[in-house]
Amino acid sequence: MQEKFENSVKNMLEIIGENPQREGLLKTPTRVFKAFDFLTSGYKQDPKKILNDALFESSNNEMVLVRDIEFYSLCEHHLLPFFGRVHVAYIPDKKVVGLSKIPRLVEVFARRLQIQEQLTEQIAESLMKHVGAKGVGVVIEARHMCVEMRGVQKANSTTSTSALRGSFLKSEKTRREFFSLINSSKQVRF
Ligand SMILES: [Zn+2]
Repeated sequence: MQEKFENSVKNMLEIIGENPQREGLLKTPTRVFKAFDFLTSGYKQDPKKILNDALFESSNNEMVLVRDIEFYSLCEHHLLPFFGRVHVAYIPDKKVVGLSKIPRLVEVFARRLQIQEQLTEQIAESLMKHVGAKGVGVVIEARHMCVEMRGVQKANSTTSTSALRGSFLKSEKTRREFFSLINSSKQVRF
């Protein structure tokens, strides 16, 4: 598999007018293979297992919010990076999940070929399903290199997506609390 991948990279280099045999490019196919192996390692990880390993009983039924989780992903249309921040909130129903597992969950889905909308939904869905939350809210703010580098849009423009589930859809109060907590984080950076 690795050989097949590396041959494809060599072909690509030739097609764009490069010489894969020149010194600077000799190790490039192997490097690209290793980079893609890492950047798509989320396919080999099971979100259910990650969350189930850290579920705790709790009587807490207040909103839990983890904001400003950095992520890096690859767009499935151009294989170019998109990256930014994820804010994840949920309202527990007798069970809470270890806080470090939420950034892990984001990585599982970010380290796959993605579109931003789908990444947002997958994070929300798996928290609903595997943690049994009463409600979930996920917001992603990201910059897309396939947009910026190709000059389709101005540099530094961000794309925002959100996915709301359960009580975040039903209750306006919950929704308002969620969005005001995210926005307040923009003033307090420490
Ligand atoms: Zn793209």
